[in-house]
Amino acid sequence: MAATMSRTLQVRGQRGALSKAPSLLRLSSTSRSAHHWSLHRSGSDAAKDEVALLASSPRRRLTLADLLRQGRPPLSKEALLASANFTQSLLPARLASRIQALRNLPFIVVSNPHVSKIYNNYLHSLSALLPYQKREITTLKDENHFGDVLAELVQTHTNTIPVLARGFLECQKYVSPEDVTRFLDTHLRARIGTRLIAEQHLALHYASQPMNDDPSNAPETESASPKSPIPSNYIGVIDTALQPARIIRLCEDFVGEICELKYGVRPRLEIGGEPEASFAHIPVHVEYIITELLKNAFRATIESGNEREPIEVTIAAAPDVPGKEPPYQEEADAGIQVDPTEDTSSPNEAIGYSNPSSQSITIRIRDRGGGIPPEVLPHIWSYSFTTFSDMDFYNSENGNLDALNTISGSGGHLSSIAGLGYGLPLSRAYAEYFGGSIAVQSLWGWGTDVYLTLQGGGVTHVFVNLGSDHPS
Ligand code: ADP
Ligand code: MG
Repeated sequence: MAATMSRTLQVRGQRGALSKAPSLLRLSSTSRSAHHWSLHRSGSDAAKDEVALLASSPRRRLTLADLLRQGRPPLSKEALLASANFTQSLLPARLASRIQALRNLPFIVVSNPHVSKIYNNYLHSLSALLPYQKREITTLKDENHFGDVLAELVQTHTNTIPVLARGFLECQKYVSPEDVTRFLDTHLRARIGTRLIAEQHLALHYASQPMNDDPSNAPETESASPKSPIPSNYIGVIDTALQPARIIRLCEDFVGEICELKYGVRPRLEIGGEPEASFAHIPVHVEYIITELLKNAFRATIESGNEREPIEVTIAAAPDVPGKEPPYQEEADAGIQVDPTEDTSSPNEAIGYSNPSSQSITIRIRDRGGGIPPEVLPHIWSYSFTTFSDMDFYNSENGNLDALNTISGSGGHLSSIAGLGYGLPLSRAYAEYFGGSIAVQSLWGWGTDVYLTLQGGGVTHVFVNLGSDHPS
């Protein structure tokens, strides 16, 4: 325990002492680009030339309505091609802007093998997309190839978070935690949008496979998904009738198993309030956030010896106020938000979703885990701040780098109960993406309440637009 604490303190001490160092390590832009020139020979020259241009190209504000517009069933060939072209019009500039941001990091950080791996991934993905930049996607064959490129892109970037985390952890001597948090926050928020754009089209692409399998037979307006495996209340990756209570139960199973493996016990979880509440949201986002919040609550509950006390989850759907817009928050780099000026008078096209859904849902997760120590509280939103450390970590020279070795393949989820220190800040990035929030209220000596508010209202305009009575 003493060793554990001293390790944590040592890490904090390093960060404080080195916060003034990085300016000395910044290279001039000339030498930095020379470095990249030689470091990234694998990327095509075309990609290198176009990065700066693309990154500086103006990006129009993307709305959730944009994403949904092409996805509503029945999905025609035209709609699928339009979605592909729309996706293609957005991705290159976003990838280029991430490449630029990585280039602007101090030389010593970009030369880190993990950070440069991510940099190369972005260059690679951009090169793969550039051929489509020059010509429109006009046939299902083109769309099929484009789908393959997107699938590879999504796959390539799956593990970005743990790899970047490892890179920054290795560089923590040279960059201040404030700089790291600033970079990661922008980067990871932008990544949420980029992945969403790619995954949204991929979902439509897969839903249209029967049409795509035999392009020559496809009539112009054939429904793309007669036997679609995707449930009917989905539009791409958006579930228009998402019930948080169901996701909470799934995450409880997952986190409970981790607890049994690590501690030999699993606390109970009770759901109260309005478990039947539903809204439109993106299941993988909600799942990510809930998993991280439950990991924190379960860990605190068990480590404080209170595993008999249940974790209380209360779900509350905000009452809909007619005519009142949800407070969308603009996001600088990759913001997706509903355009409040969306024309709601366009022709009604009811699409048949009739479940009553809410504008926003707040979920309170209340644990009896002893609360958060006052000296810890100011750091909980910093990327890579953690109080977690166990014998495995302590025995290894790498400290919490070992947390990174327990990454499961999908979505960058960690199968470890804690240790990366990304749980809270990244959950907040996901929640804020569509105008939600996370607030932590610690009752030191007793327990912690976490209030997660998610805006599902993003789909309101689409549904209004489509003439549905679906409020969310
Ligand atoms: P990690 O769980 O990997 O440490 P997080 O960002 O999820 O990273 O949390 C950061 C820190 O905040 C944790 O290490 C812990 O000290 C504290 N914390 C978060 N949630 C709780 C909670 N429910 N009870 C007590 N401490 C918590
Ligand atoms: Mg955590």
